[in-house]
Amino acid sequence: MRKQSVSRTASLVLGLLLAMVLSATAGWAQVLNSGEDWAEPPTGTVAIRADRLFDANAGTMLANQVVLIERDRITAVGSDVRVPPDATVIDLGTATVLPGMIDSHLHITPQGVQSLPYETLRALQQAQANALGGFTTIVDLSGRHTWAPIDIRNAINRGLHWGPRMQAAGPEITPRDRSMAPTPLTIDGEGFEGELFVAGPWLARHMVRKLKHYGADWVKIYATQDFEGDEYQHFKPNGTMVNSPSVTLEEMEAMVDEGHRRGMKLACHAFGGEGLENCVRAGVDKIEHGNEMTDEIAKMMAEKNIAICFTLQNMINTPNSDLPRTGGKVSRLSLTIDTLKKSLTFGVPIAFASDTNPDRHGTQAWQFAKYVEFGLTPAQALQTAFMGAANVLNYGWADRVGSLEPGKYADVIAVSGNPLDDITEMERVRFVMKGGVVLKNELTEIPAGLMTSGATR
Ligand SMILES: [Zn+2]
Repeated sequence: MRKQSVSRTASLVLGLLLAMVLSATAGWAQVLNSGEDWAEPPTGTVAIRADRLFDANAGTMLANQVVLIERDRITAVGSDVRVPPDATVIDLGTATVLPGMIDSHLHITPQGVQSLPYETLRALQQAQANALGGFTTIVDLSGRHTWAPIDIRNAINRGLHWGPRMQAAGPEITPRDRSMAPTPLTIDGEGFEGELFVAGPWLARHMVRKLKHYGADWVKIYATQDFEGDEYQHFKPNGTMVNSPSVTLEEMEAMVDEGHRRGMKLACHAFGGEGLENCVRAGVDKIEHGNEMTDEIAKMMAEKNIAICFTLQNMINTPNSDLPRTGGKVSRLSLTIDTLKKSLTFGVPIAFASDTNPDRHGTQAWQFAKYVEFGLTPAQALQTAFMGAANVLNYGWADRVGSLEPGKYADVIAVSGNPLDDITEMERVRFVMKGGVVLKNELTEIPAGLMTSGATR
């Protein structure tokens, strides 16, 4: 009798718990389907038509193409695609259609001393600015002193907010025992500088494991110690670069091994010298900056398929500070231009990587014109932000972004003119669709159901 009573009480409690779980689940489902139109792509077939379409694989412009879309995916592309009679047609007229761009190195978190909640909100807004600028996929390569980009990635993936596709590194691994952003705050209230301080291969592995545990897709390692000390700033007076290696080859190899075995990718901040060489020998996935790239390093990078990233946002103004320090000989920008030419000579893969910081997100397409000025063709410059960047993404995302092909996400942008004639067209993106949902449209009339109301507010 007593046993039965216990079991009845238990089943009452269980029932109550179940009801609570169900109502919580229903509440969650309601949140996702109560008008947040960025959460779900429209049903039915959508056809985008335009006078020109950029073939991101071939680097050529095709005429009179149609992109057919079912929900969030492309199902067909071509000039002879049959458009079903009930399809919704988005006619972009004389515009050029391109894949959504990919920026493989930026930072959405401010480097200021605001509260973490404010910085996170600001970072979300900056992530969204990238999407509106045509960058529908971004890699945040260091949340500075925070894990904010990882939470923002999760919030977008879960449909709580609209925004670009994201991969993120979390805080960077810095052997400097200090951050570029000197704020000793983290999401868990700990100063991360000490924790992410490299002190031997096993602690290096521990840091990589910690990044993985908190959801990082990437490990960002500062491999040259450029900002340390007052005596030299980047250069010695004779024009040679100060490139103190930050970690040993053994430590670098430990991080690469640990990262790869946990399904992460690794990116090295490295200007040159032994620090850069350690990254390449250990087999990281991409090199940021790479200013002093020797022929030997270039050859090795081409052989190992390690991408170079020019990060012009932080290089473009360096002649102002570097030329006085080097007697007018060199600057980080002049070295970057050398690296770009060398990359073409040796066949080093180039991934678009702007190094954009808050206030400028969504405007980084100005860098294409510089790529062309420094030696890439307009088509090559564009390709760095399509398959060039897609090929370095984690989880093999090259099979879902970077070109307009059947099976890939319907991440589609458009500009008014022909960017092969005027590369600055990329600075004026007029139309953005991410996964079948239109985030921005300044070109044509389209049904309201295809457009998220959130993005244009
Ligand atoms: Zn950076």
